[in-house]
Amino acid sequence: MARVYNFSAGPAVLPEEVLMEAAAEMLDYNGTGMGVMEMSHRSKAYQQIIDEAEADLRDLMGIPDNYKVLFLQGGASQQFAMIPMNLMKNGVADYIITGQWAKKAYEEAKKYGTANAVASSADKTFSYIPDCSDLPISENADYVYICENNTIYGTKFHKLPNTKGKLLVSDVSSCFLSEPIDVTKYGMVYGGVQKNIGPAGVVIAIIREDLITDDVFPGTPTMLKYKIHADNGSMYNTPPAYGIYICGKVFKWLKKMGGLEAMKVHNEKKAKILYDFLDSSKLFKGTVRAEDRSLMNVPFVTGNEELDAEFVKAATAAGFVNLKGHRTVGGMRASIYNAMPIEGVEKLVAFMKDFEASHT
Ligand SMILES: *Cc1c(COP(=O)(O)O)cnc(C)c1O
Repeated sequence: MARVYNFSAGPAVLPEEVLMEAAAEMLDYNGTGMGVMEMSHRSKAYQQIIDEAEADLRDLMGIPDNYKVLFLQGGASQQFAMIPMNLMKNGVADYIITGQWAKKAYEEAKKYGTANAVASSADKTFSYIPDCSDLPISENADYVYICENNTIYGTKFHKLPNTKGKLLVSDVSSCFLSEPIDVTKYGMVYGGVQKNIGPAGVVIAIIREDLITDDVFPGTPTMLKYKIHADNGSMYNTPPAYGIYICGKVFKWLKKMGGLEAMKVHNEKKAKILYDFLDSSKLFKGTVRAEDRSLMNVPFVTGNEELDAEFVKAATAAGFVNLKGHRTVGGMRASIYNAMPIEGVEKLVAFMKDFEASHT
């Protein structure tokens, strides 16, 4: 078996320990004589899996009792519609456009009401987070929407916007569980798990209870109502059962690693190795304004597309894979999620130094 250092933006690297445990339980989960994939979601064994997953997540994030945790399907992209359908009670919401995912959410919201773009960093290819201290927040806005960590561009809101008392809704897909957050600052936090937590197919939505009502956009399909999922413990229909099981294992792994405070320290240390190198390199340079840099996704370029391609090819051959930047921005991007070990980043930087020495 040869494992590579996988810098994919998502689906992405998972903790080896979790994968090995899942492999060991593939044929017989906990004496049931069957694997989790083969198990009724109505069974006692499965109920315990999902209950423990929720309890561990609540514990990790310090989720207050007045927030529901929902395990949903449809990817983060389905939330782009579910959010306005369920939360636009006045039919108005404000969006901060910091990249493609925020823009897609904004475009989708327009179908269900008035969506206003109140700030954007499109002018500089989304390489920074706009000043959000005094935005023209709409008086009747139901919520202000952000994409907290911009996977494609490598920016992160290190300070939440001033929503002037309006609810904050945040897509945390690519920074989920990378550091502690104060859930009470949000009306809703959600993310697809395939970036930093588990297998594609699960979306976790953490929503303040009072926002989950039957007052939804007319004609909203049953499956797209938060209330139906909340009332049924995320089991109105068959949930993404195996995916939730793996998420649960990752939650336990994170607790064992010391929780989110410890992950933050670990992630800052890892990212610093790469950013320090980029700041001192004669060949490579980061593309994001320093104060807005993400700890999870690190885009960089040489300034020469052919050299970028040569680097990606050489890196792949050396076991550093999925470093090609997003198809819309080019260059390189190293995604260094929770499960990327520090050695992976150290070895990547050593490889970049060698490449630089032979190409300058
Ligand atoms: C990947 C990603 C999405 C889209 O996720 P899907 O599950 O493919 O719909 C949305 N937002 C962010 C921040 C992402 O990184």
